[in-house]
Amino acid sequence: MAKTLFQRIADGEIPAKLVHQDDRCVAFHDIAPQAPVHILVVPRAPVARIAEATPAHAELVGHLLLVAARVAADQGLRDGFRLVVNNGRHGGETVPHLHVHLLGGRPLGWPPG
Ligand code: 5GP
Repeated sequence: MAKTLFQRIADGEIPAKLVHQDDRCVAFHDIAPQAPVHILVVPRAPVARIAEATPAHAELVGHLLLVAARVAADQGLRDGFRLVVNNGRHGGETVPHLHVHLLGGRPLGWPPG
């Protein structure tokens, strides 16, 4: 099966501004930032979206959230931040590879659009 865009970034085949990498995930700046800090945390495993995750992915999904919080601290987001997981068409998903958006650096409105 063809690699997803985010698998190709994780494998170093497409350049990205990495801020974290480990054996299970990578984190890099979004190409079209929606906030002063907009980083994507992406598992190396090709899980399409959170709705496709299974109990076997529980530890991985937890790891993604913990990495996102650590990166938020590294980025100096002391006034807060938001983690977002878009799922499917109504959720605004455009890349079919699970990812956590880390947004911060300005007050974020609620509810989201
Ligand atoms: P989604 O809409 O699926 O939740 O999020 C996909 C995100 O990936 C979008 O925020 C989009 O700007 C970002 N993105 C798409 N293509 C690239 C790329 O080639 N490099 C980087 N760094 N981000 C990308």
